[in-house]
Amino acid sequence: MTKALQITVLPTRPLLAYDLQITDNNATLAAYLQELDEFMAKTLAPCDGCHLCCHERAPLTSLDISALAALLPQTPFPATAVVTAFGQIALLADGACDIFLRRPDNNCIFLDLRGFCREHRLRPLVCRSHFCLAKSKRAEALRQAIINQGLDELIRLLLSEEKQGAQKILPPAVCAGDYPPNALTNKKTPQEIKLQNLCDDQLWQELQQAVL
Ligand code: SF4
Repeated sequence: MTKALQITVLPTRPLLAYDLQITDNNATLAAYLQELDEFMAKTLAPCDGCHLCCHERAPLTSLDISALAALLPQTPFPATAVVTAFGQIALLADGACDIFLRRPDNNCIFLDLRGFCREHRLRPLVCRSHFCLAKSKRAEALRQAIINQGLDELIRLLLSEEKQGAQKILPPAVCAGDYPPNALTNKKTPQEIKLQNLCDDQLWQELQQAVL
């Protein structure tokens, strides 16, 4: 069967990089994640306790909520519960809201004392789509588009839960008008999400061009 995406290693200097081409207009986020998993397994050494990237900001997205909510008691407000338990919220200088995994002592909340991820199977989208290889410009732009819209959708979900009675955890300056529905709204699984709907026209065209 033809793949919906192709990942290739580019012999760039001084570091190798990977590039990504989309070969099917119907490519989904699930296909993207599967292709990344296969590429990592085939091409890269396992992390095996290397946790260099687990000290950096790891933004949360709407797509991380159902997996991480499984670690908590059942609630009608899973987004609020997950962000309260594991996240941190910051209001940036430009007024944008940021939500990321909490880092007590600069280590991700899920990092254990041996340097392994305690919740590797449930790790957020940002961790699943990261590995120690530079990216081409278009591969990075696609990953950013997915994560940025996932973060926006998480904020929209928190605002919606707040309206339904959940505890208010967002700063008062965050308002619903800044977080309209996007390509992730009402989508529960990566299978339902078409990559094309997450990209603007220019990025989509670039992603379809053959690997250079
Ligand atoms: S969730 Fe796991 S993989 Fe992701 S930053 Fe935290 S410890 Fe690292």
